Amino acid sequence: MLCPFCNAKDSRVLESRVAGENSVRRRRQCESCNRRFTTYERVEVMQLLVIKRSGSREPYTREKLRAGVSRACSKTMVTAEQIDDLVEAVENELAADGKREVTATNLGEIALAKLRNLDQVAYVRFASVYRQFRSIEDFVAELHSLTGEGDSGSGKSKSERPHATVSGTTDSKPNQPG
Ligand SMILES: [Zn+2]
Repeated sequence: MLCPFCNAKDSRVLESRVAGENSVRRRRQCESCNRRFTTYERVEVMQLLVIKRSGSREPYTREKLRAGVSRACSKTMVTAEQIDDLVEAVENELAADGKREVTATNLGEIALAKLRNLDQVAYVRFASVYRQFRSIEDFVAELHSLTGEGDSGSGKSKSERPHATVSGTTDSKPNQPG
């Protein structure tokens, strides 16, 4: 917080007072010019609506996104801290866009893009929920796109099964925002 008079960086807090539900008023004194000024600190409350597949809207909650990501990351090497970082990165991206609403699909895709760099098993699990693969072929295509085995003559059979570690992850319904 720069001094509004001399732009010095350091100021001393003389007094703090709650100024509202999410805000604190602080009386400060500049360390350089000794003039006094007041700042208000507000907790940023993300007011974002998620548009579900049904078309209904619900408030975005970090807990819900975190739960979905955590579920996808269970029994992987992904740490709780990495999940927190991922959720925060998603929120930062949404905040940077400045939108008031996001579709559940779009939200899922943003998380997915970040999960892809973190853990491939978690990525495929999460994708299976958000993209709702219609067929095993869709699923296999996604796996191939991960391993760089596209359709460019890799000689792999289309009937190849996905790796065992990613099977059986779609039976429970992880916190699907749709
Ligand atoms: Zn000053």
